[in-house]
Amino acid sequence: MINASLPELRRALDARQISSVELATLFLDRIAALNPDLNAFITVDRDGALAAARAADERIAAGTAGALTGIPLAHKDVFCTEGVLTTCGSKMLSDFVSPYDAHVVSLLKAAGAVSLGKANMDEFAMGSSNESSYYGAVKNPWNTTRVPGGSSGGSAAAVAARLAPIATGTDTGGSVRQPAAFCGITGIKPTYGLVSRYGMIAYASSLDQGGAFGASAEDCALLLGAMTGFDERDSTSLERPTEDYAAALAAPASAKPLEGLRIGLPREFFAEGMAGDVRAAIEAALDQYRALGATTVEVSLPNAKLAIPAYYVIAPAECSSNLSRFDGVRYGHRAADYGDLADMYSKSRAEGFGGEVKRRILVGTYVLSHGYYDAYYLQAQRLRRLIAQDFQAALQQCDLIAGPTTPTTAWALGQMADDPVQMYLSDIYTIAVNLAGLPGLSHPAGFGADGLPIGLQLVGDYFGEARLLNAAHRFQQVTDWHARRPATAA
Ligand code: GLN
Repeated sequence: MINASLPELRRALDARQISSVELATLFLDRIAALNPDLNAFITVDRDGALAAARAADERIAAGTAGALTGIPLAHKDVFCTEGVLTTCGSKMLSDFVSPYDAHVVSLLKAAGAVSLGKANMDEFAMGSSNESSYYGAVKNPWNTTRVPGGSSGGSAAAVAARLAPIATGTDTGGSVRQPAAFCGITGIKPTYGLVSRYGMIAYASSLDQGGAFGASAEDCALLLGAMTGFDERDSTSLERPTEDYAAALAAPASAKPLEGLRIGLPREFFAEGMAGDVRAAIEAALDQYRALGATTVEVSLPNAKLAIPAYYVIAPAECSSNLSRFDGVRYGHRAADYGDLADMYSKSRAEGFGGEVKRRILVGTYVLSHGYYDAYYLQAQRLRRLIAQDFQAALQQCDLIAGPTTPTTAWALGQMADDPVQMYLSDIYTIAVNLAGLPGLSHPAGFGADGLPIGLQLVGDYFGEARLLNAAHRFQQVTDWHARRPATAA
């Protein structure tokens, strides 16, 4: 059962081969056994999960179950959950029990999904290794001396180690796709505006987007389909009909299901920078795509190399504004000893935030300050526009863009601890996609020389989620990289 796909779990639940309570218990017991080593969860909500599972069993018995009714999942701890601790991986929110649910959380509750708990993450979603969490680093289930990726590292590690069949995440610059790649699972970040940000603790609001993790594209399609939908409480939520991504996968069988699909390969992504084993795996996966009927064409993203500098102006600028709300007054950490009000603010923030968060608040405040705004922030916004235009030009020549998700496999815990800029550079292939607001997916495409998973990234045009999921699904129907499991889940 722990390795079953979502459609298999659905069939087992509907046929009463297992109850939702039994299924939740199975995963809760795995969490109890394996989480002390992996640290993928900050909070495990056993009582809440079992209560939700009992309600799901009633719905199944009444014949009113939907696709996700009774299916266990984990939520990244960036999503507010009513009555359950929501920390965002920070000491600042280490005692914060949200009075309401994020939109995503209420949608999944309404669908009857069973939340097992809250997944560990980089503090305020800032990081690529999940080492900046106040609750300690998450370990990669494939090799516990390696990072799982970040910032949604707990969600990705949980799905890879089968502590949960599926999990939610968020992606501001790669935080769904990169940990999916490092943990050997599938992850999708949809078009900006498709998933409501209401109740999703803000890092960089113009880039933040909720996303889905699963073992396969099919599992991601089912989860993402339940997460999208217009929400008037998020001013950037898009008012458009929701799509049934899972149903769209059920095309008739054919030897060349991707006939007619044009995949663009950005010259710049295949230049230097990619490790040899990553390149070999990506080339082999592209051969597989061609065997399925797709054609490949070289495209160019000339400004993509400027994505990281632009992002590290825009994201800190937005974060410095968003995180100003954490002042120790209404909720969150408050220093025990302080003099006047200003002293309380500064001591509470000095104690509540970790080093990476402080670094970004300082950078963001600087680039927004008088005299620097034009030189940095405005310039970065211009680059952002150029990067988005590059993608639009490339997507005139192709339907999807493919390349590696990351330049290397997962690095060792602690390896980049003293070099934040080196860590920033590791997001070279994912960040441009957020700046453009496009959908991106990462799926397993092989293993490196170190035995760690490699991810292939697909990028689509706006609202191209169904096409991304369909391409990855066809690939997964003829390959088994996504079915490989770390030893603890084999
Ligand atoms: N690694 C990037 C950062 O640190 C992206 C994080 C994210 O997508 N939340 O900002």
